Amino acid sequence: MKFGGTSVADIERIRNVARHVKREVAAGHEVAVVVSAMAGTTNQLVTWCQQTAAAHDAREYDAVVATGEQITSGLLAIALQDIGIAARSWQGWQLPILTTDAHTTARITSIDAAALVERLAMRREVAVISGFQGLHAESGRITTLGRGGSDTSAVAVAAAIRANRCDIYTDVDGVYTTDPRVVSRAQRLVKIAFEEMLELASLGAKVLQVRSVELGMVHKVRIFVRSSFEAPDAVDPHGVPPGTLICDEEDIVEQQVVTGIAFSKDEAQISIRRVEDKPGVAAAIFGPLAEANINVDMIVQNVSADGRFTDLTFTVPAGDFERANRVLTKARAVIGYERLDGANDVAKVSVIGIGMRSHAGVAARAFRALADRGINIRAITTSEIKFSLLIEAAYTELAVRTLHSLYGLDR
Ligand code: ADP
Ligand code: ASP
Ligand code: MG
Repeated sequence: MKFGGTSVADIERIRNVARHVKREVAAGHEVAVVVSAMAGTTNQLVTWCQQTAAAHDAREYDAVVATGEQITSGLLAIALQDIGIAARSWQGWQLPILTTDAHTTARITSIDAAALVERLAMRREVAVISGFQGLHAESGRITTLGRGGSDTSAVAVAAAIRANRCDIYTDVDGVYTTDPRVVSRAQRLVKIAFEEMLELASLGAKVLQVRSVELGMVHKVRIFVRSSFEAPDAVDPHGVPPGTLICDEEDIVEQQVVTGIAFSKDEAQISIRRVEDKPGVAAAIFGPLAEANINVDMIVQNVSADGRFTDLTFTVPAGDFERANRVLTKARAVIGYERLDGANDVAKVSVIGIGMRSHAGVAARAFRALADRGINIRAITTSEIKFSLLIEAAYTELAVRTLHSLYGLDR
């Protein structure tokens, strides 16, 4: 059972979480719980690091931001004990959850589940584990798994103890066709394939961290997204509550062409005007960006009419916009271009569905529908099961709603 930030936002909600856990224990299940920090806590901790020094040591950032989860794991253990359930808190370093040393975005390498399994089975004691954090064994230092990383902690623990299921309790009762906070007509999906969830998560839907879906896919963990706001005692622990199961493609009987729509305003566009159209130019541009650890996403290059000059447009994460501009300005002599244009008021809207593999013209319909609304498309990328469109940020909601209706997701 994993509980996110809003589900443990205050003491009353932590008590509510304890009742959810008690219900499952009473039903005879052995339960490991993973918790996030209280809503807003991690943001506050990140802000404090930034205020102390804009450029700060990643190890110390991890030392600071990992503390939010220590509070909630301890409090939940207390709340459980208070209602007669044996429980013990575990920090990442205590279990331990071992990770790489990529501080701030570490990857889990292994979890020693033996002690956990023993406690669950022999002592009948609920393990309350701090999400988001781990330990780099060689240096002995605390690491964190990137924002939203508690989802990944939960799926990793579930894989390690071979859990029957990994229930992700959050503030919505499942995965929707698009963010239900933005589109009121969004519909809850009963099931979604791992591949689709992977795209949805990586293209902006923050309901699950991308790595948690990757892990679930590799280790075949049944991930079930559900709400923590249901009355704990009204839920039948042996029934099927409202929620979304992330599963294999084969387990979905009625596959729609389009399953969901994701969007991200966290994008910036850079256009390089009048670059020479010759071999090596793309390398001269993207090489330095890669060295600076800047992820380039959509890339559009025109074929030049005169065979001499062309324009090249691409996107980078909004947070890297300034840095990317500096890198490209520095490399101007090597690249050889006339002008650098940029915009960070852009958004990426993505349409996802496994059914696209076998249906032609899915994207073409989107182009027409957006044109009818006067929405200009600045860049397009496609892959087997998704396509993404770069548009002006102000039109994001309109574009998402338009596409949501177009593909029959309003129902
Ligand atoms: P938690 O704190 O429990 O980890 P998050 O805030 O990280 O919760 O994720 C849940 C939020 O994800 C929801 O409140 C919702 O606004 C957002 N979200 C975005 N896209 C979707 C989607 N397709 N389905 C459900 N929720 C979504
Ligand atoms: N507390 C961490 C964050 O806010 C991890 C998580 O909530 O999953 O990013
Ligand atoms: Mg989250």
